[in-house]
Amino acid sequence: MRLYPVFADIAGLPVLVVGGGKVARRKAKSLLDAGARVSVGAAAFGTAWASWIDAGSIHVLHGAFDPAWLDGKWLVIAATGDRALNARVAACAGERRILANVVDDAALSRFHVPAVVDRSPLLVAISTAGAAPAIARRIRETLERVLDHALGALVALADRQRGRIVRRHADIAARRRFYDWLFDGPVLPLLRNARHAQAEQALLDALATHGQESAAGSVALVGAGPGHPGLLTLQALRALQQADVILHDQLVSAEVLAMARRDAECIDVGKRCGGRQMAQERIQRMMLAHAREGRRVVRLKGGDPFVFGRGGEELAFLRAHGVACEVVPGITAAVACAAFAGIPLTHRDHAQSVCLLTAHGRRATHPLEDRALGDSRQTLAIYMGAEKLDELAARLISRGRAPETPCAIVENGTLPQQRVIAGTLATLPGLLRLQAVNKPALLIVGEVAAFAREHAWFGELVEADTAGATQDCASVAVA
Ligand code: SAH
Repeated sequence: MRLYPVFADIAGLPVLVVGGGKVARRKAKSLLDAGARVSVGAAAFGTAWASWIDAGSIHVLHGAFDPAWLDGKWLVIAATGDRALNARVAACAGERRILANVVDDAALSRFHVPAVVDRSPLLVAISTAGAAPAIARRIRETLERVLDHALGALVALADRQRGRIVRRHADIAARRRFYDWLFDGPVLPLLRNARHAQAEQALLDALATHGQESAAGSVALVGAGPGHPGLLTLQALRALQQADVILHDQLVSAEVLAMARRDAECIDVGKRCGGRQMAQERIQRMMLAHAREGRRVVRLKGGDPFVFGRGGEELAFLRAHGVACEVVPGITAAVACAAFAGIPLTHRDHAQSVCLLTAHGRRATHPLEDRALGDSRQTLAIYMGAEKLDELAARLISRGRAPETPCAIVENGTLPQQRVIAGTLATLPGLLRLQAVNKPALLIVGEVAAFAREHAWFGELVEADTAGATQDCASVAVA
């Protein structure tokens, strides 16, 4: 069942509740809170109703359910605890084209009443379409903790000053930035501490001065993580939701991009290794141009921007041109791939250090020349290393690594199509001649790589026979 979410303005509208018990009373209360004209029909009313009846807050209909009670009503809630009666109320409502809710009966309900986090005028409504109200309740509890209680006052303040805000910031991008400032700035803490007058004054002061300030653009160099959308940081999510322009690499997954603000302009500056690249200089000039036009630019990179991501060069360039910058770290491929392949990068018994390195380098000397790479107690996480595995393995062996050293290739780490290919420096190159490696792929070398064979817990595992018969490989799904 897929529901259409609405928030209904029922102020002044006649509505009906059928039932005289506690549940019915709770329903009547929320309808009264929304300003509806509430009639309540029941054979008997508990004592809890007395104050409303005496005060004339509700219109009382005494006796057995009569379909005529529905006449002229917009909504009805059946809360009698008698399933057959509830069904009859719902059926009569349907004949009259009146939306009906039957308490605890999704199938009979034309509208559902969601779990609500109330920061009026801000309301957050949660529904599972009746499938699991207990889960909706848990989500509500979580949001209750997360959402500041002063948010209601903030929204009310924004409403009061809306005319001024719109006049001051006719430009929509500038207005959005103002609202961002309102949300993130000093006003909310003032409201939280019940300093309402100061809060209002802070808003007015900002309206008087904020214009020039907010016109300046900025760039955030943001790490998108390895691809799994759950591995994005909260800070990265926030940056994506505030962005005017997003310049992203091809490595950034569609799921991550889907979390960006809807009307952000997304530009693929696809720098996927091996494919055609947009020159780094051109990307930097694009960032600069957008920022100078006052936009919030997000430069979104796979993994972490400062791990083989050229983020350092971009930061230096932007700062040299006086652009406001921030860097939001991401989960880098080595960390993510290792975790999703069940490989601890360090281990008390097997590896006391880990080295992140790339098989592609700018320097004339090969990055794997270093003798330290022969240390059997160090794990190597080699980026962009899967293609030239023959050469890499030979180099590592010549630097002192045993041919039996376990290694694993993690393809498409953290993505649904993840595959781990496990072997040794001696067997893996042979296996890879039989199996094409899909990109992106990361190579992990060291004793800890053996853990993948037993503890890979996600995606597919392909094993090269460590005895040397590379053709005999077992492939098992471990998801
Ligand atoms: N800044 C990125 C690395 C960019 S270099 C980071 O911190 O992760 C690109 C290389 O990263 C790829 O060639 C591959 O070796 C590795 N990589 C990135 N994402 C990956 C993934 N999901 N699975 C496996 N390797 C990945």
